[in-house]
This record gives sequence, C-alpha cells and structure tokens, in this order.
Amino acid sequence: MTSLSPDQIIRQEILALSAYHVPPAKDMIKLDAMENPYQLPSFLGEEITRITAGAHINRYPDPHAAALKETLRTSLSIPDGMEIMLGNGSDEIIQIIMLAAAKPGAKLLTVEPGFAMFKMIATFTNMEYVGIPLRPDFSLDLDMMLTAISHHQPAILFLAYPNNPSGNLFDEAALNKIIQISKGLVVIDEAYHPFAGKSFIEKLPNYPNLLVMRTLSKLGLAGLRLGFLVGRPSWLYHLEKLRLPYNVNVITQLMAEKIMQHYDTLQHQADIIKQTRTKLRIFLESLKGVEAYPSDANFILFRLNNASHVFKQLQQRRILVKNLDNSHPLLKNCLRVTVGTPEENDYFCNTLQDLIAEN
Ligand code: PMP
Repeated sequence: MTSLSPDQIIRQEILALSAYHVPPAKDMIKLDAMENPYQLPSFLGEEITRITAGAHINRYPDPHAAALKETLRTSLSIPDGMEIMLGNGSDEIIQIIMLAAAKPGAKLLTVEPGFAMFKMIATFTNMEYVGIPLRPDFSLDLDMMLTAISHHQPAILFLAYPNNPSGNLFDEAALNKIIQISKGLVVIDEAYHPFAGKSFIEKLPNYPNLLVMRTLSKLGLAGLRLGFLVGRPSWLYHLEKLRLPYNVNVITQLMAEKIMQHYDTLQHQADIIKQTRTKLRIFLESLKGVEAYPSDANFILFRLNNASHVFKQLQQRRILVKNLDNSHPLLKNCLRVTVGTPEENDYFCNTLQDLIAEN
C-alpha cells in the first residue's frame, strides 16, 4: 500500500506557510534580533555556573516553577491577586492563548505592521486573523480599531506595547478605550518594557478581560527562553491546562531565579541601551535621506532609499539588521536595527554613512 505524502496529510494553511527565517549569524555583528549585547557581570556569571553545576538534570523540572515565580512576583511588583504563567519564551504563551481560544471561526485581531508571530500562530492554531493597519506614522488609528472590534468581535486582541517593528508606545488612553469596549480578551505584549518604562500590569485589577505578557529575552536572557503571562486566576487556570508540564527546564528555572534576584543589574544594562539608543537615533536622523522613527524599545526603525540593496551591502560588511522592505506597504524601504554596544553602533553608523555616500 502506498502511504500518503506530506502534502496529503498536512493542513493546507501549513503547507502554504514559509518557515520563520533566522539568517546565519556566524561572525556577524548581530543587530537584527533585539538581543541585549551585554554579558552578565562576572560575579553573576560565576554564581550561576556554580548553581547549574549542581543542578539535578536527571530529574524533571518543578512543573510549577514555584521558586522562580515567587522571585518574579517580588522583583517585578506583580499586583496581589494576579497569577503568573511561565512559557518557553513568550512565543509559547502566544500559542497557548490562541490554542485555548481557537473555536471554529474565532478571530484574532491585531495591528499591522506588528509582531509577525501573531499572524503565524493564528495560522498554526486555525484562528481567523484580522490585521488592522496603523497610521503611516505607526500610531494607532483608534476609530478604525473601534469599528473593527465592533464588526469582528475578536475573541483575542494582541497589541505589543511598545510595538515591534515600529518601536513606539501606543497612546495609553486609546488602549484603555480598546480594552473597555472589547468583549474578548486583550493581551498587552510588553516584551520591550525594560526600555519603555510604561506598563499595563498595574491596570490588571481594573479590567477583567486584560492579560499582560512579558519576556526576559530582551533583558539579556534571550538564550534562556523564559516568557510569562500575568493575569487573573480565572483566565490562567484554563490556560495552564494547555501548558506542557515541563516547558521551563531545570537550568532556566535555576538561572532565571538567581539572575532575577539581581534585576537592578539587568535594568541598569537596559538603561545604558536606552542612552545609546538616543545617540543612534540622532545619528540616523542626521544622515541625508534617512528617516528614523522614535523608539521606546531597544531597536530603531528607519527608512532610506534602496533599503534592500543597503541591507545586502551591510551584510557583506558583516552587519546583520532586519530588512522589512516589502514586508508591509507601510514599511517600504524600512530597515530595523537593534541597539548594540557603542562600538557595534559606531561600526554600523560609519558603514551606513559610507554606503549612503556611495549609492
Ligand atoms: N513579543 C514581541 C513583540 C517580540 O518582538 C518578541 C520577540 N521578537 C516576542 C514577543 C517573543 O519573545 P520571546 O519568545 O523571546 O519571549
């Protein structure tokens, strides 16, 4: 008997997807993925080496990660009465939320351009995707959002605050309005919170349909893969059923617990990144033909002539940024650069300046 081929078994929407592309980064100056460029201070590095050397990796991890959650609760001032759910990165949390809500015909609404995984995971989980365009300056079009919400009645609304790839914080009053008029669940994704300072976490007690998501990835711990969701137990109780029991491994639990006891160290690095972000933006703005957008995150979106060509030339000079040209009509000729160390930023700035002069 001949067996069925993958395209006979796998869902049509999955066959049609292209895999999330991560370009090779060996020997590159990596300014494409919003990582923190700094290592941990050596005292912390030594401490976690010691702790992990004694880790019981022959045992499954604590499925509830109780000690880590307690540390997160205190270091991040989680409001009383709110629960925490941990994910293998916040990507996994997005997937859990959508899996839970994907009734036939249920809609996921977000803005465009926005974080690419919202749309991808909507496809994985069979949710109907609705993307509402931002204004050309990447601010929220509140009227259009309110109309879309009332028309589509989305089960879930995801908004990144600050937004990726534009880097801006949306208007707080507009977000409050959106949460108030939404009958469905609103998830505010605060992946870039360490660089923005503003948060909806303290508003959780005000809104029964609000959840707030964070990640440690942008704070210097991208390699650990730890994201978390904060919200009412009535929501998290059900979402927890979809979380695979050992999704946060032993080493991540131990390391994150120790490192989060020194949260001020990580926040200090984020503050340095904020300062260098200002310098980088001033430089980009000074270049002829470059428009740099304001950012509350650890990256800057900028527009320039022949962006795709410049992107390739940067790559040839060992600099990796994100090419967003052609990814959305509002992003024509746009590139996104992550704020690196001052040395990396200087090399990027000088190279870009030379390329613009040559082109
Ligand atoms: N949300 C946003 C807005 C992001 O930009 C990213 C990463 N690029 C994530 C979530 C996912 O982060 P992680 O899975 O590393 O926690």
